[in-house]
Amino acid sequence: MPKSWSPETAAIHAAYDKKSGEGTMAVPIYQTTAYEFGSAETAANRFALQELGNIYTRLNNPTTGVLEGRFAEVEGGAAALATSSGAAATFYAIANLAAAGENILLANKIYGGTLSLAQYTIKRFGIEARIFDPQKPETIEPLIDAKTRAIIFESISNPSIDIADAEGIAAIAKRHKIVTIVDNTVATPYLFRPFDWGVDVSVHSLSKYTSGQGLGIGGIIVERHGLNDLLIGNDRYAHFNEPDPSYHGLVYAKLPFPLFTLRARLSLARDIGAISQPFTSWLFIQGLETLNLRIQRHSESALEIAKWLGKHPKVKSVKYPTIAGGINAELAKKYLKNGASGLLSFDVGDAALAKKTLNNTKIFSRVVNIGDSKSIITHPSSTTHQQLNEQEQLDCGILPGLVRLSIGLENPADLIADLEQALNS
Ligand SMILES: *Cc1c(COP(=O)(O)O)cnc(C)c1O
Repeated sequence: MPKSWSPETAAIHAAYDKKSGEGTMAVPIYQTTAYEFGSAETAANRFALQELGNIYTRLNNPTTGVLEGRFAEVEGGAAALATSSGAAATFYAIANLAAAGENILLANKIYGGTLSLAQYTIKRFGIEARIFDPQKPETIEPLIDAKTRAIIFESISNPSIDIADAEGIAAIAKRHKIVTIVDNTVATPYLFRPFDWGVDVSVHSLSKYTSGQGLGIGGIIVERHGLNDLLIGNDRYAHFNEPDPSYHGLVYAKLPFPLFTLRARLSLARDIGAISQPFTSWLFIQGLETLNLRIQRHSESALEIAKWLGKHPKVKSVKYPTIAGGINAELAKKYLKNGASGLLSFDVGDAALAKKTLNNTKIFSRVVNIGDSKSIITHPSSTTHQQLNEQEQLDCGILPGLVRLSIGLENPADLIADLEQALNS
C-alpha cells in the first residue's frame, strides 16, 4: 500500500485485497476456529514461528487481521492487535511491559475501569500504580524509578473530558526510556494523532466511536513505527531481550517485526485469549469506514450544543474542551485541531433538576455509554460515581447537578429543543 494514503482512504482500502479470494467488495467474515495447515511440516514451522500463517483464531484470524491492519494504518502505526474489549486492550498493554515487583504511572483523569484495573486487579499481581496529573507532566519525574515500566494516560479523558499534555508526557518518558501508552478512545485517530506527539502505544475501546452505533464490545492496541528501537537492549524490558522459554528460547528482539503487538499476540493472546471475534471485527471494519465523517459531526454538534447550554439561564457552567477556558482550552488548541468529540457536561446546580432533566428528555437515552449515534444523557453523581462519598465526588469534579452528554448524530436543533423542554418542564 502506498504510504501516501491519508487515514480516510486507508480506513476504506488498507489491508484487504479485493482481488484475493472471491473478489468480494466487502471484507469477508472468516467465521472459523482453526485452519488447515496442508502438511505436517507447515504446521510445525508455523508453531515454531519459522513461517507466518494462520494457526488458530485465538492467535490470528483473516477478518480480524483486516481490522488490525487498517486501524494501524489509519492511526499511522506499525501494527495492531485487536482484543475482546477496550478493557482487555489496556490490560494487555500493561501486562506486556510490567511484572510483579514493578510499577506503572497512571494519569489521575482516567476511565473508571482503568483505575480499578490498576488499583485492584493488577495490584494483586504485584504491579503498583502511581498516580500523576496528565496536565502537569512535571508531576511524573518524581514517580519514576528503575522499576517503572509504563506511563498511561488518556488523550481526552472519559468521563472528565480533560486533555492531556501528550508531548510533555512523551518527552519525559523518552528521557527515561519508558514506554508511553495513550488511551485514544474518545479522540479517535481523527482528532488526536498519538504517534505524531511521540507516544509509543495507543489503546482504544472500539465499542465507542469506532463501532459508532453501540453494536459490540472490542478493543485494539496499536504500536508506533520504530518502537523496536526503544525495546531492544533496554534494561526495563528484559523480557523482549532474553530467551522466552515458552517459545524454546526465542528472543523477540531478534525478530524483524513490530515487537510490542507481536509479543502481546504470541504470549498474552495465546495464554489469556481475550481476542476479537471475527463477526465483531467485521462490525468494527464497517464502523471504521465512516468514523472520520461521524466524529466530525459528533464534534460539531457537541460544540453547538455546548455553546447553547452556556447561554441557558438554568445552566451554571458547561465543560467542553475548546470553550472551557484555562488549561483545557490551551491543550485542546494544541492537540485537537479537528474537533473535541461528542462529550460534554454541564451543571444545573442541584441533583433534583439534573434528575428531572434526565427523566424529561425524549431523544436522549439514559445509558452509561459514549460514542453511539444515539445521544446519551447521564447523571454521574447518582450512577457512575455513586460509590464515592460527597468529598471524593467533588474532588473529581462531580457536582450533584452535573449532567453528562454524549452527543449522537441526530440533528442538533432537535437535541437543543429536547434539552430546552426537559430543563423547563
Ligand atoms: C469504554 C472505555 C474503555 C473500556 O472499553 P470496553 O470496550 O468497554 O471494555 C476504556 N477506556 C475508555 C476511555 C473508554 O471510554
